[in-house]
Amino acid sequence: MTSTVAAGVLPAKKAAETAATTEDVDLSFDPFSYQRRASERIEREGVGLGGEELIRVVVPRKNYDKIAHKIDKMGDYKPEIIYEDAKIQEIDPRDAAAIAGLNQNAEAQFVTVKDDVDLPVIAAFRLLAARVQPRHPILLKDELVGAVHRTARGRLGSIAPTSDFLNTLLTASTNIGSLLCDGIGDAVMVQGEDAPGQALRLSYNILQAAGSRIFKTDYVACPSCGRTLFNLQTTTAKIKAATSHLKGVKIAIMGCIVNGPGEMADADFGYVGGAPGKVNLYVGKTAVKFNIPETEAVDRLKDLIREHGKWMEPSAAQPVLV
Ligand code: SF4
Repeated sequence: MTSTVAAGVLPAKKAAETAATTEDVDLSFDPFSYQRRASERIEREGVGLGGEELIRVVVPRKNYDKIAHKIDKMGDYKPEIIYEDAKIQEIDPRDAAAIAGLNQNAEAQFVTVKDDVDLPVIAAFRLLAARVQPRHPILLKDELVGAVHRTARGRLGSIAPTSDFLNTLLTASTNIGSLLCDGIGDAVMVQGEDAPGQALRLSYNILQAAGSRIFKTDYVACPSCGRTLFNLQTTTAKIKAATSHLKGVKIAIMGCIVNGPGEMADADFGYVGGAPGKVNLYVGKTAVKFNIPETEAVDRLKDLIREHGKWMEPSAAQPVLV
């Protein structure tokens, strides 16, 4: 679909100096409903990206070199593309000449926003996605060196490492996650976190949280209320202990059948309070087992997952990211 907007995503003070961005532009994505931007499939170093391919995880070479010795043991959670080998075109999305040159290129080009662009990250990537033709796959970054939030973060130089990582986590999740939920992005790279393993975990966890790639079990639990028919915290902990090694399974844990089934979203399996001390189990939104004693319910849930071919023994599972 093609939508037209005035590119009012820029800060007001930039509007005058970026007159080109205030023109109406044809968007290469629909901002009002989820649809992955229709990029063309390309390959980099034997790895496919764009089109129907998975959203890839890119790392800078310095990070890759530090974890290269343990990549064989990383299963699905390894770096997939090295930035310096990926022939990525870095662009300022306000640069009309550069955009025109890219769009005239006969081949789809892997493209990202230049690090020194002084725009907020989300605005910069939305503008890039709006102005380059959809066939060009986009690499999302969590931070741009010149970005406003980076400056603010610099002022907090004395904060403790833990809160610093929380800040990095929130920034990366907000920026990359929002763009993924807009349907923008064919690959991601976290550069605000220096530790290579931590940056890699963050990349994969953001993809999982955005629903872009599923690597580990996902849980949806209700907040609990006066209707809740079991201890939500301890039950959730028991279910997690039994199933967290599974890959790509979504489990809903709901306190009651009054509202629980309607709130299970797109879970594969549901564990729902049916009566005091009794649990109903669901496959998707359909109840399939009723009034199971709570003491047996986690084992019956495991049986149900097994029956539907989604069970694996913990010993056969790949390492799970935390
Ligand atoms: S699903 Fe039931 S128990 Fe859970 S919050 Fe909603 S009404 Fe309360």
